Amino acid sequence: MKEKSSSIHNFSEAVCIFSGGLDSISTATYLKKMGLELYLISFDYGQRASNELFVAKRFSKLLKSKKHEIINISFLKTLLGKTNILTGSKSKIPSTFDYSMVVPLRNTVFLTLASVWATSLNIPLVIYGAHSGDTRYPDCRPSFTRSLEKVLYLSEIDGIKLGIRKKLHIWSPAMDNLSKSELLLIGYEILGDKIFQSWSCYLGSTDKKTNISKHCGICESCMNRKQAILKAGLEDKTIYVSY
Ligand SMILES: [Zn+2]
Repeated sequence: MKEKSSSIHNFSEAVCIFSGGLDSISTATYLKKMGLELYLISFDYGQRASNELFVAKRFSKLLKSKKHEIINISFLKTLLGKTNILTGSKSKIPSTFDYSMVVPLRNTVFLTLASVWATSLNIPLVIYGAHSGDTRYPDCRPSFTRSLEKVLYLSEIDGIKLGIRKKLHIWSPAMDNLSKSELLLIGYEILGDKIFQSWSCYLGSTDKKTNISKHCGICESCMNRKQAILKAGLEDKTIYVSY
């Protein structure tokens, strides 16, 4: 594992967006490993993968987060309309990337809301789990992250200059060029096989009799998950409906 000269070493606390997916769990674990106190925030935005919030709660406890807020912004689904298939209900979810998987301004909204919370907590660091392979999602790119950091600074510039507010730093693993499989290995190193209980699937189903949730195994997110686990050289212990 390559050690990154991360810009987050100087911080002791972070607000971290926590979806319950492989990337956000691994990212939070990475922060924990570096000794940061975690303030986790998850969003219920009307996503089809509602199982991820249940998973987020479980992992929040496991990672001993200082606080975990689950914020209901399901009104977003109304505003999003038919722009994407992750909050819509009709379209089938493809196995390969399609722009219909991009939820408009999702990380802009999430990071802005997380930054509001960070401001009230007086924590100057906000983190989300975008990694170096997320290049097809514009709001996962480091150029976006740096620009948003500037916008947030300008939003509070007077308060920052007066010393009333702290300047916020936004960070993602993509900014240190960490890949999904590298992140996964960090998560695995600390969490072991529990990492396979993270939730990636855009669809997912829970067996009503056994209460066991299974990944579909064929949506784009499941495909990325399988590839990252394979690339990391780990045995995939995820339960898939079809592999
Ligand atoms: Zn799936």
